[in-house]
Amino acid sequence: MLVMKFGGASVATPECFSQIAALIAVRLQEHKQVAVVVSAMADTTDRLLDLAHQIHPNPPKRELDMLVSVGERISIALLAMALSLQGIEAISFTGSQSGIITCENHADAKIVAVRPHRLLPVLEKGQVVIVAGFQGVSRKGEITTLGRGGSDTTAVALAVALGASLVEFYKDVSGIFTADPKKDPSAQLLSELSFADALDLIVQTGAKILHPRSIALAAKNGIALSIYSFLHPQEGGTKIGWGEKKRNESMLFEHEVI
Ligand code: ASP
Ligand code: MG
Repeated sequence: MLVMKFGGASVATPECFSQIAALIAVRLQEHKQVAVVVSAMADTTDRLLDLAHQIHPNPPKRELDMLVSVGERISIALLAMALSLQGIEAISFTGSQSGIITCENHADAKIVAVRPHRLLPVLEKGQVVIVAGFQGVSRKGEITTLGRGGSDTTAVALAVALGASLVEFYKDVSGIFTADPKKDPSAQLLSELSFADALDLIVQTGAKILHPRSIALAAKNGIALSIYSFLHPQEGGTKIGWGEKKRNESMLFEHEVI
């Protein structure tokens, strides 16, 4: 069982979908069961937020979540279509349909449980499951979102619930660098990091490479992480926590997450 997560840059254009579908096809051959988490296309979330603020200077948070959760729904449906074109059976699910249960805190909700009842039979049939990142549903049935960049945390939470031991993240950079590679050409790729070092680096530099909660959740549950460039996945990237495939409770700063 493998969880693959594709960020907004990897689904920026219609062509991107066929490209990542081909990548998923390769991994499906190797792992037999694959769950994919996907973000909204490029700057879709920003554009939706901007739209909301053109209507209301301080929009009600419930309605903001209703609106921005749509970005990921666009991506999951398009990816399922791209896989279908390549002869791969895939079914898309919203966060709510995937059983991503959160607290009620709109726009910054924490995942409190994952109940993947609908996903399991699909995975067992060898079909690809595609889950909308960044979103869930509260126990009252309200649509929530996890905070900016939250799809990374969706991917790790799903891995925990499905019993996957690895999550692969596909980004527009190959991994974590000593500096921002888009600004500093001398930046060096860090090929392997502990959970603690990765979390320190991200929190200290404010780099948006992974949602900090996703690393904490991976450390808590001993889930290894890999980051790749979706354009050059064969080049290798950054491995996080590969030597620590067991629980590391001292890393925990989110007690309520699974
Ligand atoms: N689309 C959301 C955002 O831009 C969530 C994510 O990309 O992880 O923040
Ligand atoms: Mg995004």
